[in-house]
Amino acid sequence: MKITCHYGEYADMGYVYIAPPNEKLDRDIEHRNEITKQLKPQEIHIPYITGNSQIALLISKMTISKNTFKTGYQQAFESEYGYDFDSRGYLTGFELSLSQDKFIEFIRNQAYKVFHFEWHNKLNNLVTFDYPEEVFHSENIIYKMNEQEDTFVIVQLEEDEDLYSQYSYTTKKNPPTAKIKALFSSREDIYPLEFLLKPKFQLEKSIPLAVINNDLCCEMDVLPRWESIAEEKRERLINQYTCENCSEVVSIVQCIIHGEADGFLLMGKCSSCRQGVESYVLDERRSRG
Ligand SMILES: [Zn+2]
Repeated sequence: MKITCHYGEYADMGYVYIAPPNEKLDRDIEHRNEITKQLKPQEIHIPYITGNSQIALLISKMTISKNTFKTGYQQAFESEYGYDFDSRGYLTGFELSLSQDKFIEFIRNQAYKVFHFEWHNKLNNLVTFDYPEEVFHSENIIYKMNEQEDTFVIVQLEEDEDLYSQYSYTTKKNPPTAKIKALFSSREDIYPLEFLLKPKFQLEKSIPLAVINNDLCCEMDVLPRWESIAEEKRERLINQYTCENCSEVVSIVQCIIHGEADGFLLMGKCSSCRQGVESYVLDERRSRG
């Protein structure tokens, strides 16, 4: 399990990988990890709990939606930021808003746990992203990941407190925000227990960003270096990217340009399949010297 948390003066932002991420991309962002400054390795432990007969009972008290999570996401609720799915419709990761302090507290207090239990004649692993009272709340809703019905998420729908709507004449309510509290699956091949139990928490400092356009930001102090690249090449890097997931030549949208020792890391989403994209760009001028 890999949980990323970005923090800083602008926004607290996290990302939870629930399926193993691409190893190469993982190495690219690892050096920005701040978690080792905050926690010793022995302070990071994900308990593995077997034989708790209460789990299936608590789950049976929740409503199971007829919809898949993806349908719910598109129709009934909004996410805090975004979700990523693989080509089969399995959730691979999601963004969340979590302050640095809360993130550390969650780790220290072992809010992240894995429960092994039987449900509908299948053995499941359930990973929690909050404290038990929040995860196993009877008002939470269970969504199946896809029609396979082998993987589910426990979601808390939070009604949107839109201050602006008080002052407008519209009666249209904003859709609620979905907060993923847990995921459970009998698919060991997609969500390996080893990955769920061997957490790699990532905590990243958010850095002041310069907005280039609606879909492109750049770390403020990296901007002069980025702009010193020929415009044509910059254009190509952003708008002619070959997506590893859908194999199409796409644009990287919602892209942030990060500075690296010998180049740039472009992080965003594929304009076609919306999967997360992390493109490493070597700056020849730097590596040569
Ligand atoms: Zn794609």
